[in-house]
Amino acid sequence: MSESDTDNRDGAGTPRPDPGTGDGTRAVRAGLPEPVKHEPTLPGPVFAAHFHLPGEPTGPYTYGRDENPTWTHLERAIGELEAPGQDDVETLVFASGMAAISSVLFSQLRAGDVAVLPDDGYQALPLVRTQLEAYGIEVRTAPTGGDAQLDVLDGAGLLWIETPSNPGLDVCDVRRLADAAHARGALVAVDNTLATPLGQRPLDLGADFSVASGTKQLTGHGDVLLGYVAGRDAEAMAAVRRWRKIVGAIPGPMEAWLAHRSIATLQLRVDRQNATALKVAEALRARPEITGLRYPGLPDDPSHKIASQQMRRYGCVVSFTLPTRARADRFLDALRLVEGATSFGGVRSTAERRGRWGGDAVPEGFVRLSVGAEDPEDLVADLLRALEESAG
Ligand SMILES: *Cc1c(COP(=O)(O)O)cnc(C)c1O
Repeated sequence: MSESDTDNRDGAGTPRPDPGTGDGTRAVRAGLPEPVKHEPTLPGPVFAAHFHLPGEPTGPYTYGRDENPTWTHLERAIGELEAPGQDDVETLVFASGMAAISSVLFSQLRAGDVAVLPDDGYQALPLVRTQLEAYGIEVRTAPTGGDAQLDVLDGAGLLWIETPSNPGLDVCDVRRLADAAHARGALVAVDNTLATPLGQRPLDLGADFSVASGTKQLTGHGDVLLGYVAGRDAEAMAAVRRWRKIVGAIPGPMEAWLAHRSIATLQLRVDRQNATALKVAEALRARPEITGLRYPGLPDDPSHKIASQQMRRYGCVVSFTLPTRARADRFLDALRLVEGATSFGGVRSTAERRGRWGGDAVPEGFVRLSVGAEDPEDLVADLLRALEESAG
């Protein structure tokens, strides 16, 4: 038997003990299995629809819609970031953020239940609302800001929080809302997409589920769609897992592996992008044509007080409004370092006039800017030049 045959018998290997507590250390090592001589540090993607399985069909790996060793590594990585050192937290990866969101809502709610959603959250939530209502679930909504969801919690079975909200960047007090929801017997889920696990740990703030799109800053290169759910309640997570199995909303092994590789640079990207976002916000707010500038990291932002209590980093998204739709379009056209694109969190800056989609309650000139990893001086110069050029 060769050396490598004796190792890794459970397919994914045992996770390594946490050797450090810094975010950078944790990110580069997250989810790596015990090293195996002559094997890569991060094992390559396992392409398998089914696994060799003679005799009694026991796990961990039987059929590719249920489990895959590449997911196992990625799930451990995300779990180590969402809930460091907490072995009771389970993480499940999905084909997209929406697959993860739907898995929680549709696995936890039944006809007659009440769900509370934000009215200023991700743009697909209204579609989800329609589907929940079609299944006989009552949906109430309230704004994220001012913890307004508190007012509609009575009788709720599940509270869905998105903080900071996308695209308005309002923040709510997760601990306060979670306590109020739990006192009424409701489960609490937080969409952690914008913050990433390095910016905010919803499970530590009292949430039952931390749910996110890994498509954004978690993976950061704009080349992978991914989602995940992390939770501590074994029964609730078993229902989420069952939902993944019956809907089949699973990530491909290649996507899962790319995501895991990308997480190694999460702390570098997040620190760079978020620091630049603050510089960009400071530069833009000095401009007379800009109103409603929002960035939770700005000390005088309406979100800052609560954000500074529950977040460790404030994200890479800055939003603001230009006087007219035409001005916003000219501004976006004039940018050279900022690509016109939806989505956010990538290493290359992107921006869009959010009103072009309809749906979000935002002014016509509202721009959502996702700050990338370019040099801050270059980016600020490009933005200020585009503002000048678009004035005429
Ligand atoms: C993008 C996004 C989603 C959906 O994620 P996908 O990976 O596109 O399915 C959900 N919530 C928020 C806050 C998002 O920004």
